[in-house]
Amino acid sequence: MSLLIRGGEIITADSRFIGDLLCEGETISHIGEHLTPPNEQTTVIDARGKYVFPGFVDPHVHAYLPFCGTQTKDTYTTASRAALLGGTTCFIDFISPERYGNLDEALKRWHEKSRGQSACDYAFHMTVTHFDEAIEKQLRRIVREEGITSFKVYLAYKGSNGIEDADLFQTLRLARELNVLVTAHCENETLVDQLQKQLLAQGKTGPEWHYHSRPPCVEADGVHHLMTFAELTGAHVYVVHTTCAEALHELTAARERGVHAWGETCPQYLLLDQTYAERPHFEGAKYVLSPPLRAKHNQEILWRALSQGELHTVATDHAPTDFATQKAMGRNDFTRITNGVPGIQDRINLLYTYGVERGLLDLHRLVELAATQPARLFGLYPAKGTIQVGSDADLVVYDPNYPSVISAKTHAMNVDYNAYEGMPLKGRADTVTVRGKVVVQAGCFVGDFTHGHYLARQNTQIEIPR
Ligand code: MN
Ligand code: MN
Repeated sequence: MSLLIRGGEIITADSRFIGDLLCEGETISHIGEHLTPPNEQTTVIDARGKYVFPGFVDPHVHAYLPFCGTQTKDTYTTASRAALLGGTTCFIDFISPERYGNLDEALKRWHEKSRGQSACDYAFHMTVTHFDEAIEKQLRRIVREEGITSFKVYLAYKGSNGIEDADLFQTLRLARELNVLVTAHCENETLVDQLQKQLLAQGKTGPEWHYHSRPPCVEADGVHHLMTFAELTGAHVYVVHTTCAEALHELTAARERGVHAWGETCPQYLLLDQTYAERPHFEGAKYVLSPPLRAKHNQEILWRALSQGELHTVATDHAPTDFATQKAMGRNDFTRITNGVPGIQDRINLLYTYGVERGLLDLHRLVELAATQPARLFGLYPAKGTIQVGSDADLVVYDPNYPSVISAKTHAMNVDYNAYEGMPLKGRADTVTVRGKVVVQAGCFVGDFTHGHYLARQNTQIEIPR
């Protein structure tokens, strides 16, 4: 099986040139000019006038997640199809064991939910909710034998996923020893809990109050807390979904004093704001996620942090639940609204349209933030995240002049609303390949759900922060 992509402008994190790519089997075999098809069966794709990007990597996705007595709407089938249509060829989901549950059993469950059901490649982070000898043993085995080289901890969600401080310390100590990157949801859970109770007692039950139960200082406090633990243990940590100036400040201050810390943000925090959750008639529930959407002035700060290297990745935190049935569980109590927005399909188009086209990011930074850096941090590079000879032939031929409008009516995600409804887009993934196989053609899904592989990852390829 061979594939020749001709005449596109090939974009990586640090280079751009017009040329041809030859893929043989599952990998890129030649990069050059005027390459010829090795045989008559070679698929030839004309990419003139288009960009050729490495397949994008989304390091924060909830394809399968049971929570709040329900679960995210997607399956690996629907999530992987939506990912590919949006140019994402690989995502990392979070194994979420029950509190005090066995990690191997949880891993088995996530394999059962995904194996043979994904059109794109995927990997797992392992959530750690508590720490004891049995968990330590399971973690050591999972890192060594299963290629799960990143953990997830929640400093929020008291009583469910949230981790106690002593257990956090032990988890980071082990992560340092194993050279595992620890991703963290940072909010002070005690404060969230107290503020929620206070608001509900005052009869403040609508979705617009969610923000007030998790203000910026609560997130910043969570980041600061994590950084103290990272500083003392030497562990490498990764702050998921950074939303605001206050949290960014704590991250940056820690990096400046030598803490090994990285930061992620998401399109929803770059493009939507607090007022969305204030929409009347419970419409605001569509925009309830944690941390909450922030005041608009934070958007400019986040965009600048991305372009200047203070934030390192853009992921989606894709967490689809239906407005009509699932979000509705919180109609009389905002603390029961399912948290999260869908976004796996829209990330790259949004970053291209509202980042690159507005001059806030250049094309290299787009690739770096959404492909190369996630692949490096999470041990997938250089098979994923770049275009070079020997890398997996995960490629996106991107048409920068394909206008469309986002709508739940036309999106491929298995959820009844889109947080970006009505927003115009300037480009789209025209052709997408996963390990040399064409899975999106002329913007239409042509993949199959047995092609996606589980990826056992290498240890984190971490560089000391610049
Ligand atoms: Mn989170
Ligand atoms: Mn998440």
